[in-house]
Order: sequence, then structure tokens, then C-alpha cells
Amino acid sequence: MEKDIEQIREEALTGLAGASDTEGIRALSVQYLGRKGVITHFLRNISGLPPEKRPGAGKRANEVKKELDAAFKTALAALEASSASGTGDIDVSLPGRAPAQGFLHPLTRITREICDIFTRLGFDIAEGPEVEQDYYNFEALNIPKNHPARDMQDTFYVSDNIVLRTQTSPMQIRVMETEKPPVRIIAPGKVYRCDSDLTHTPMFSQVEGLLVDEKISFGDLKGILTTFVHQMFDEKISLRFRPSFFPFTEPSAEVDILCVMCRGKGCRVCSHTGWLEVLGSGMVHPAVFENVGYDTDRYTGFAFGMGVERIAMLKYGIDDIRKYFDNDFRFLRQF
Ligand SMILES: [Zn+2]
Repeated sequence: MEKDIEQIREEALTGLAGASDTEGIRALSVQYLGRKGVITHFLRNISGLPPEKRPGAGKRANEVKKELDAAFKTALAALEASSASGTGDIDVSLPGRAPAQGFLHPLTRITREICDIFTRLGFDIAEGPEVEQDYYNFEALNIPKNHPARDMQDTFYVSDNIVLRTQTSPMQIRVMETEKPPVRIIAPGKVYRCDSDLTHTPMFSQVEGLLVDEKISFGDLKGILTTFVHQMFDEKISLRFRPSFFPFTEPSAEVDILCVMCRGKGCRVCSHTGWLEVLGSGMVHPAVFENVGYDTDRYTGFAFGMGVERIAMLKYGIDDIRKYFDNDFRFLRQF
């Protein structure tokens, strides 16, 4: 009978050596150690042995039972560990899969470039709400109730006194309400107007700038903006300040650069004028200072604003503003 238990042990270990998956090992475990298994059966039948052989056979059967239990468990654990790490399935000769690399949208890049130039000149960045009160978007900026910019054609009204901001200029008021001069900020952000064609989209991006201090003159405005244009486009590019009108600045000037396409000879892009408009600017209107309680005898300042899409179009030679918002990877990937 003792020989039988050794035979059972031998068979079980041979079976385990041939088992290649967890299911096979579990089946063997049930076959030998289960409630109706071979060893259980052997132990139950020990009473049929001659009395002097019973203790030895029982002891040996329990030893084998423990040994097999441990062997099955070890084999299962080894198999599970190797399938978890996947070492069995890796083909090391396959070429790797490169993770897709993200990139910044061209408008984000240009916005950051503009902000970088001005922060190097000592400006702080200020951000504010896109859903804005009528007071900040128009009233405080010296845009009276009958101004054409208030026409329903241009402005998205949320309610009578709430609008989607049509410009980043409200940030001038928000900053001056809480800070005393000197003030030196730029405010990048999205703005909204009811407008859509080759050069206009209902949502676009602006960067607004404001500098207020004692003895600030139009010369400071020209110096700062000339530095900006030279750093943004080209150290040698010509620019000019052309008289213009904005309700919140007086005097006001548009800044043009020599056409980047034709260098002043005249082409379709510059409408044959040789110049391209890049910025609006001017000395802050005293009425705006009065609205925020600044002393107009002591302080002067200048403000400017630019469209980020327009700067990017000029810099990259893009002719349709809507391309920025089509999300076509072939277009966006170029930058
Ligand atoms: Zn041109």
C-alpha cells in the first residue's frame, strides 16, 4: 500500500510537469487533492490496511498531500507572475510605438510670444471675465449709449446689462479700480462679436495693454510699441503711427507695419497700400481716468490693443482666419 502512495505522488508530479496553463494545474489539484480526489480516497481507505501499516501509510499520505499542494501553488504563482509581466509574449524585434507628441495651437504660441515680449518690458499679465457687465465693456470706457459699437449687429447681449465682452479693454477699468498708479499690465483673452467672414470670426483673441504713471507721453507709447513690433516681426521693419479714433483714447493712433508680403510695393494682402494695420493705440482719455478716480492732473497713460489672429496671419502668411478654428491637423501641425 505504501508503494501506491509513492505511485500517486509520481503520477501527480509528472502531470504537473506537463501542465502548461493555470487551468491544467487547477484540474490536477482537484484530481489529486479535491474532496473526491485520489489522495482523499487513499486516506479514507487506510482502515482497510493491516493495523501495523496504518500509521506509516497515513503519515506518508499526509506528507505527499502537503508536498503536492505546495507544488501546485508554486506552479500557479509562477505562471500568473509571468503572464502579468507579459515576458512570455513580447517580441523584442518589433519596432517601438512612439507616443504622439502634443503641440501648442498657433494662437496660443503667438499669445505667449506677445506676453513674453511685454513681460520683459515690465508688464504684468491680468485676466478677467469673458461674460462682462455693460458698464465695464462700454460705459466706463467712454462709449456712450448711442455709440455704433453698441449696435446689436456687433455685440452678443446676454441680458440688458450683461454682454460677452467685445474687447479686452474692460480689464483696463477692472485693474485701475483696484490698483493705484503706476499700472503696467497686458490682458490677453477671448472676445466676441456677431461677425463672420474671411477675416472675422464670432470669437477671436486680443491682447490689451495699459501703462499709467506720472509724465507718460505719446513718446513712451511710440517707444514701447516700436520695440514690440521689432521683436515680434523683424528688427528692421518700418512702422508708422496713423491718426485714428477710439472713444477711450485721445489722441488715438493705429500702428501699421510695412507689408510683409510686398515690402511696400503694394499687393493684394495690403490692398495695394504697402502697409498692414497691426495695433490700435492712444493716450488714455481723461474721462476714463475720472471713471476710476485717478487724478487727471497728475497721471497720464497709454493703452493699446491687437488681434492675436491678425498678428499670427501676418507672421505666418495665413489668408483665412477660419483655419485657426477648423481643427485640421494638417494645418495646425505646421507651426
Ligand atoms: Zn503688400
